[in-house]
Amino acid sequence: MPSIVFKDVTYSYVSNGESFPALEDVNLEIGEGEFLCLVGHSGCGKSTMLSLIAGLAHPTRGEVLVGGEPVVGPGPDRSIVFQSYSLFPWQTALRNVMFAIRKTDRKATKEQARARALELLEQVGVGEAADRYPFQLSGGMRQRVAIARALAVDAPTMLLDEPFGALDPMIRRKLQLLLLDLWKGACCKTAVFVTHDIDEALILADRIVFMEPRHVVRSFELPRDRSRDPEALVSDPVVRAVKDEVLALFEATATGGEDA
Ligand code: ADP
Ligand code: MG
Repeated sequence: MPSIVFKDVTYSYVSNGESFPALEDVNLEIGEGEFLCLVGHSGCGKSTMLSLIAGLAHPTRGEVLVGGEPVVGPGPDRSIVFQSYSLFPWQTALRNVMFAIRKTDRKATKEQARARALELLEQVGVGEAADRYPFQLSGGMRQRVAIARALAVDAPTMLLDEPFGALDPMIRRKLQLLLLDLWKGACCKTAVFVTHDIDEALILADRIVFMEPRHVVRSFELPRDRSRDPEALVSDPVVRAVKDEVLALFEATATGGEDA
């Protein structure tokens, strides 16, 4: 059974009584355990897709189903990592993760939540920064804490909106591999990852879905057992072909922009 389904979904933002369509008649099925990357130019509707899955917005027409049920709002079955500003600035890294644990598992004692939070921070490589506040952390460390917090929820679906977009390429690459490892280790979590970086999608995705403004246009499957080393990756003919096709779509839609 697919874990996420978009059925003829239209979504319009309403502002000053006027309605601006961000998605029109979108149909998409995302399989359980799939790592799906949504790519496309800025403004094409990627974040809107995630908001609908997260239950932060509701379709104007059509339906979004998660686990066979229409989404009615946010829930502990879906965790979210945003590009930035997603940690509570007034709480330490440890408390940010503990908060997520205790919100999800109301029976967890403070001590249990602390132990689990520390374990998760260690796992993402920022155990030593547990007592620091977000402003005392680098961008890469903040995103590690955000990933630890998303993992703390232990949700079957992880939604990630350009989580590494603001980071420099070296750190970005490290975190991509870390995320991939954690995702493989967690087994069977469904991930929907938004990016406009094709190379990032080639490293992470089982399937790349390309969007043009308001529409899902094409899907590209990638072999799960491919090398994730950047050089080996693009010398794989299947991956290379996908990259070329996606780049061609990016070019073809480049002048379309937000208001096409
Ligand atoms: P992406 O994530 O692909 O950059 P978005 O989903 O954020 O795109 O936005 C899709 C479209 O909806 C864009 O044209 C954007 O300008 C518009 N949009 C996004 N948020 C709002 C909003 N709060 N009010 C009005 N229009 C919005
Ligand atoms: Mg966006």
